[in-house]
Amino acid sequence: MSKKTQSHGGPIQIVPLHPGASSAADGTEIFDPSKAIAAPASAQLTYQGGQLLSGVKVFTIFWGPSFSNGNLNGLPGQLNAFFDTILKGALMDQLAEYNTGAYKVGKGTRIGSTIIQAASATTVTDADIQAALQSWLGSNPDFPKADANTLYFIYLASGVTVTMQGEGSCTAFCGYHANIGNSIFYAVMPYPDCAGCLGGKAVIDALTGTSSHELCEAITDAVPGSGWYDEGNNMEIGDICAWQFKTVDGYNVQLEWSNQRNACI
Ligand SMILES: [Zn+2]
Repeated sequence: MSKKTQSHGGPIQIVPLHPGASSAADGTEIFDPSKAIAAPASAQLTYQGGQLLSGVKVFTIFWGPSFSNGNLNGLPGQLNAFFDTILKGALMDQLAEYNTGAYKVGKGTRIGSTIIQAASATTVTDADIQAALQSWLGSNPDFPKADANTLYFIYLASGVTVTMQGEGSCTAFCGYHANIGNSIFYAVMPYPDCAGCLGGKAVIDALTGTSSHELCEAITDAVPGSGWYDEGNNMEIGDICAWQFKTVDGYNVQLEWSNQRNACI
């Protein structure tokens, strides 16, 4: 089936930068929160027949020594607590309208976490991430084996730029989810080093917001474009509602598109 695609040729699978972010002539970052993205008037997700993650099993990976003995050493605990809470709560329940005959979308669990002590390069491509993940899966006993519901969430350190299909973190995207074949599912979360990925929020709130976006997209569209996807607007469940937030169980999470309610909820 032919699909409309992004300029780089793939289905949309990213969190875009906040549209209110720009640069002044001297390079200073400007952020205008009034320019939030409004949902398209006629959004509608349709099921394309592919895999969904039912009962998602999240494993978090923090890549770099700053997550254990540096300035980011508080983040693993905070983000693991976020997943422990959110995977058992209302954010998962609201996705039930996207159940199919084969897949029941529901509550999930965080099945573990690890910190990779070796620093990544300062620029990491998606191919690098896929190679690293496959290497870890093959040789690191801390890693659970991939299965149909496992989702690896990979957090990068501050100062690391991620590139994917010719686009970069903090220039085109704030995070994305992807797949290696039909058997390994992962999300990549660069550190929000720019106004466009902070969206006027504290670091932890920006990270839980973008993480919730990718979590819900990975669940409902595990192989981008093959699950629940809006072909008319060329978007996944979170893209339609990007940069619109609510608080669930004490955490900043993004609104997600509801076909039933015809709204971001
Ligand atoms: Zn998205």
